[in-house]
Amino acid sequence: MLEVDGLNAFYGPAQALFGVSLRLKPGEFVVLQGLNGAGKSTLLKAVMGMEVKTRGCIRYSPDAHRVDISHWETHRRAKAGLGYVAEDRRLFTGLSVLENLQVVARGDAASKAQEARVLDLFPVLKTMLKRPAAHMSGGEQQMLAIARTLMTRPRLLLLDEPCEGIAPVLVESIRDALLVLKASGMAMLVAEQNQLLAASADRALRLVAGKVSVS
Ligand code: ATP
Repeated sequence: MLEVDGLNAFYGPAQALFGVSLRLKPGEFVVLQGLNGAGKSTLLKAVMGMEVKTRGCIRYSPDAHRVDISHWETHRRAKAGLGYVAEDRRLFTGLSVLENLQVVARGDAASKAQEARVLDLFPVLKTMLKRPAAHMSGGEQQMLAIARTLMTRPRLLLLDEPCEGIAPVLVESIRDALLVLKASGMAMLVAEQNQLLAASADRALRLVAGKVSVS
């Protein structure tokens, strides 16, 4: 589903990733670990084609066809099936839960069906459809951010620290939702220190100072 080879990433002259390679299969859940500043967020952004300049190769194969997306714009990657949730969630805080979901939907029957599926995945959101996102807890906001990205029907989900600072019961809800998505064949690359979530991953990839640790 995803093949990254020899990826270097740069913020201006400063290099943040050094020759990172990884593979992700359909339905595989990989947790990205490492200290603050190790490059976890940068790797997710590089795969999504955001904010950093990259050198190296990123190939994506949602089906039998494998395409080199290294030079694609972010919106093209999103359209092809990559979904990304930033660490700061980037919700529309003045909009309600439902409006946050509908703002990325086309309003057709397929979107309605996807909205129902997404809300089934996060039942707590169903109880607060009209609540402004600003009036939700951090964990509820995180669920909404994931739910909103799922409205685009991604095949590969990139999540940046979804469980940071979140109550354990909501971490469990997020983990359960991710496991349902995994069972449906979605591939997931998740930067996360939370052990509860990490324990459910198929494997961990550790970054040390911008490189994949081989230990
Ligand atoms: P954290 O857990 O703190 O988010 P991280 O593992 O996600 O850490 P990154 O945020 O990817 O690490 O940072 C990797 C390196 O890139 C660090 O040295 C950081 O200072 C640098 N960096 C990150 N964002 C920028 C930016 N916008 N401009 C310049 N350098 C940046």
